[in-house]
Amino acid sequence: MLADYAVRVEESLGRRYLEPRHPYRNDFQRDRDRVIHARAFRRLEAKTQVFTRRYSDHFRNRLTHTIEVAQISRTIAAQLGLNVDLVEALALVHDIGHPPFGHVGEKALDAAMRRHGLFFDHNLHALRIVEDFELRYAAFRGLNLTFEVREGIIKHSRDYSSEQNPELAEYLLDQRPPLEAQLIDLTDEIAYNTADLDDGYEARLLSLDEIGAAVPVFARFYQEAERTWPDVAKKLRFNEALKRVLDHFVSDLIRHVAERLHEKRIRSLQDVRACPQRLAGFSPQVEEERKQAKEFLYSKLYLSPALEAEKGDAERVVCELFDFWLAKPEQLPMSYQQKAAQEPLARVICDYIAGMTDNFIYEQYKRHCGRKERSA
Ligand code: MG
Repeated sequence: MLADYAVRVEESLGRRYLEPRHPYRNDFQRDRDRVIHARAFRRLEAKTQVFTRRYSDHFRNRLTHTIEVAQISRTIAAQLGLNVDLVEALALVHDIGHPPFGHVGEKALDAAMRRHGLFFDHNLHALRIVEDFELRYAAFRGLNLTFEVREGIIKHSRDYSSEQNPELAEYLLDQRPPLEAQLIDLTDEIAYNTADLDDGYEARLLSLDEIGAAVPVFARFYQEAERTWPDVAKKLRFNEALKRVLDHFVSDLIRHVAERLHEKRIRSLQDVRACPQRLAGFSPQVEEERKQAKEFLYSKLYLSPALEAEKGDAERVVCELFDFWLAKPEQLPMSYQQKAAQEPLARVICDYIAGMTDNFIYEQYKRHCGRKERSA
């Protein structure tokens, strides 16, 4: 049962190229399936989330993170009466524009581009992937996704202005995105805040005492788990506490969004779009808990000295390869050399690097820059 404010697939603004209807899959289900069958989606398996695979095989990568975001998003969307098919497609596509090496790779690529008066933005890159780079169909380039999925790719995590991004004008930049897209940014955070506590603890980079002291919501549920299971292994108590933290964030989000929709008398998709602010968010108390968890992860995990060496490697690999192809464009694959006739060389190199997996970029580095990465 869809709520009045949900996106209805039969009212979709449609695809760029008309296609015959599928006998039993609707357009958002087809978009979800197109994303799953895309090459860029498969490559997420070998892209770093926080830990590179050299650290351990147990931790999340960008594909398993994406699947977790899809799982959490489906639950929330169903409770709020949103369009679950659209939410699932948006969750599965939300990280498809990420380069190798997680946020370090993104920063390094952006820094390299800025030296040429350009920049790198993973949402814009994701749009280029689904609109142009994926070659699966005889009739058109890209995946020919519906307007609502393309709009969500761009607008789920931030607003873009039509002055700065005139090329995005078709995406209704002066309006809020539907709740289905607004949700993704928050479920993304719920997924990685909880998962990174888990992986950080498992990697022994975060201790139970540290987490408990800095993340009160975790401490509360851990104490409860200690009382309920005094005799089980610590990690099992940890798991019990963490799953309650996740459930607490999800339940608060569902409750708080429902309250706001009621308060603001939101009765249609048009009301959602016309609202001056985004409607999806946590209650003030849980928003505070979200910030505490995030700040703790930044200071103790993402910026921890233990990950420094890997980050240094990643930055060097991206920068040196970028400069290598800039000096020797004839060493790029032929399809990219051809693109360089129409676009700035820096943009073409950036697109090539951004699509790479961690494994592939290391191979390229060894081949072209002639050295092994330090911590391999
Ligand atoms: Mg994500």
